[in-house]
Amino acid sequence: MKEIDCPNHGRQHVAIACTAIPAALLDGETRGFHWYEDDRGIACALCDDCARAMEQGSKPPHAMQVMCGACFESVWNMNDQPPRIS
Ligand SMILES: [Zn+2]
Ligand SMILES: [Zn+2]
Repeated sequence: MKEIDCPNHGRQHVAIACTAIPAALLDGETRGFHWYEDDRGIACALCDDCARAMEQGSKPPHAMQVMCGACFESVWNMNDQPPRIS
């Protein structure tokens, strides 16, 4: 499993999320949290806007980026721990 060096959490497993997900940690504003695991077992999350775009088959407004798994979990907690979508 790939690892990332987080300034807050040290060495962590990676997660992948659209840029609106880590942004929630900076301004405390939640923008939805739709998460799933990819075929490598890496947790991935999309905000409401990106999830909607994917559903409609259009291009999501935010790029996907690698982020710290513990930070990912913090945003998940901020969104009241939604269940995995797939
Ligand atoms: Zn997004
Ligand atoms: Zn972190």
